[in-house]
Amino acid sequence: MSQNPTDDARDDAAAGTTTQAPEPRSVLVTGGNRGIGRAIAEAFLAQGDKVAVTTRSGGAPDGALDVRCDITDPAAVDAAFAEVEAAHGPVEVLVANAGITADTLVLRMSEEDWSSVIDTNLTGSFRLAKRASKGMLRLRRGRIVFISSVVGLLGSPGQVNYAASKAGLVGMARSLARELGSRGITANVVAPGFVDTDMTAVLSDEQRASIKTQVPLGRYADPVEVASAVTWLAGEGAAYVTGAVIPVDGGLGMGH
Ligand code: NDP
Repeated sequence: MSQNPTDDARDDAAAGTTTQAPEPRSVLVTGGNRGIGRAIAEAFLAQGDKVAVTTRSGGAPDGALDVRCDITDPAAVDAAFAEVEAAHGPVEVLVANAGITADTLVLRMSEEDWSSVIDTNLTGSFRLAKRASKGMLRLRRGRIVFISSVVGLLGSPGQVNYAASKAGLVGMARSLARELGSRGITANVVAPGFVDTDMTAVLSDEQRASIKTQVPLGRYADPVEVASAVTWLAGEGAAYVTGAVIPVDGGLGMGH
């Protein structure tokens, strides 16, 4: 074995082998009881990682630690991390996935519609990243992945609040990438297009059909297709990727 881990990885890749199975990591996925978050939690579980799922209503997948946490409450976020750290050790991979919508046209959008979406999607992600970075800085490694949306880059009528919250995640990830990179911590964004979940189940058949005509691949994503980008960003193969926005949108947002 050489002194240089990069040489070892290169030799292993050339030989088509790996020296040993990676150590299970402490992974925290917010909003992992359904939809995209559940698929992400299940993908990490399938890799053998120690997975904790936080939600308000419970229902984590089998094998995951089920932690109640409303991400709009900073004390609840702190308590959730303490619970996960006690069970699994410091969080090495944070997936900030929990999110909500409160769609309406701008003239009808109330302060509450605006602030509830920003508080959950953007400020909630800030609370999570801030708390996670504490342990990651001590470990001198970590992966932070924010689940944004193609809408944050393209805009969407009726989603001024949601699009602003999702665009904000890009600036946050890139600032974290610059702030924490020297400590071996990466911060990236996954920007899904339309995915079959409860969030999009509210769309009418007409809206769904119209969306599909704009997507080059002509269909919605399966949540596992988003999960696969997340596990890649959290894995060894993405060790040199930070501040990136990875679209998983069937081509909908190309060029943004
Ligand atoms: P769902 O509506 O199916 O699930 C949302 C999840 O977030 C639930 O697990 C919910 O759990 C959790 N959650 C919501 N608010 C809070 C809160 N205050 N505190 C803690 N947990 C909360 O959403 P999707 O799976 O569709 O979406 C997941 C993420 O992907 C979101 O950030 C969404 O914006 C994004 N996205 C989704 C797309 C889609 O087409 N579906 C497209 C692009 C991005 P509980 O209610 O139990 O708390």
